[in-house]
Amino acid sequence: MTDPACLFCRIVAGAIPSDVVFEDEQVVAFRDITPRAPTHVLAVPRRHLASAADLTDDDGDLLAALFGALRRVAAAAGLSDYRIVTNVGAGAGQSVFHLHLHLLGGRPLSRLG
Ligand code: 5GP
Ligand code: ZN
Repeated sequence: MTDPACLFCRIVAGAIPSDVVFEDEQVVAFRDITPRAPTHVLAVPRRHLASAADLTDDDGDLLAALFGALRRVAAAAGLSDYRIVTNVGAGAGQSVFHLHLHLLGGRPLSRLG
């Protein structure tokens, strides 16, 4: 369930400090340590999953909780336009192997591709 070697499991457990902006039974959302936008928040499941590739058909409630967390964070920040993205695998830019959704907003975001 929790991997003591995993950075985000340690943040979820409170063993590493972070700026938490939202939490519920399933999800913790905290500010990225190297923000790439005025609002840059990561939403992670409390349960360890390495990436979106580890989600199953039974994880609908978790996905709703992850998106719900970021919807609330974006609304609280007054954002109407924002991006939610998740990287899967090192080749796609994933550097922390605990599933997380990035919320980026507060500046113009270029079109993908
Ligand atoms: P990835 O590159 O895996 O998609 O995103 C990982 C994110 O975690 C990066 O944007 C990085 O800045 C952030 N990050 C890495 N270490 C820490 C940390 O110790 N605390 C916080 N709050 N964010 C971190
Ligand atoms: Zn983890």
